[in-house]
This record gives sequence, C-alpha cells and structure tokens, in this order.
Amino acid sequence: MRVGVGWDMHRLVPGRPLVLGGVTVPSPRGLEGHSDADTLCHALIDALLGAAAGGDIGRRFGVDDPARAGASSLLLLGEAWGTLRAQGYRVLNVDATLLAESPRLSPHLPGMVANLASALGVGTDRVNVKATTAKGMGWLGAGEGIACIAVAALAAPAGREA
Ligand code: MG
Repeated sequence: MRVGVGWDMHRLVPGRPLVLGGVTVPSPRGLEGHSDADTLCHALIDALLGAAAGGDIGRRFGVDDPARAGASSLLLLGEAWGTLRAQGYRVLNVDATLLAESPRLSPHLPGMVANLASALGVGTDRVNVKATTAKGMGWLGAGEGIACIAVAALAAPAGREA
C-alpha cells in the first residue's frame, strides 16, 4: 500500500464560479487560479501523485500552460489518475477535508464524492469528502480563500510492493 497527502489553497475573488470537486457551488465569489482553481481536485491530484512517488501537480501539468487556462480540474484529475492506473495502481480509498468559512458546503458534498469517484473509476464507498470552517481564525476564518487537504491510499502495482 502507498499513501500520499495533498494540500492546496486558493484565494476567493469576485466574478469567478466556485468549483469544488467538479460541483459549481452557488457563491458570490469563486477561487482564483489559472485553471478552474478547484482546490479539492488539486489536493487530491497531489495526494495520488504523492502515493505513487509521481511528483506534484505543478510538475505534471505546469502552472501556466495556456492550453489549460480555465481547465476543468476534474478532467485533470481523471488525466492524472489515468496515468497512474496505466502503471498498475489501484485506489484503495481517498479522503479530503475542505476548509471554508463560507458558503456552507455540506449540501454539496455528495455531488463532489460522486464526481471524484467517477473520475477515479471507483465506487463512492472509496471516496470521502468533508468540510469544516476555521472558526473565524486567520485568513481562512476571514474568508480570504479556501483550502483543502487530501489523502490517497493506493495499492501498488505488482513488483512495486516492497
Ligand atoms: Mg491549486
């Protein structure tokens, strides 16, 4: 078994959609970034790459590739996972926690889980997404941005068990 962790954060700005786990969450502000800035997908990509000793999202996709401007990070997740799956990795489970002061994310978590499970080609019983707030503390508590931490456990391909 291989375990990886991913951490990501983006600033909240007016005039952008708020996309988390491929779900567009109603919000007056969205996350700033080169892609759709889906911080949940970004953290999960880093967790998957981390578990496979595959580097990180910046090395995999670059940080300013014009072809990926506004890209769906859910599609990037599927692309990253496709590479690892082709190497023989299997998802045991993934788990993520979103840190957001607002909007309230709990009604949207099942949709995020369904999207992530679909992108990874696994059942929703292997995918968990949680959300919590920073209780008013610091930049997260002030609503300046949204952060996400994710963990992925993968079964290594044959020959890489050691
Ligand atoms: Mg990011």
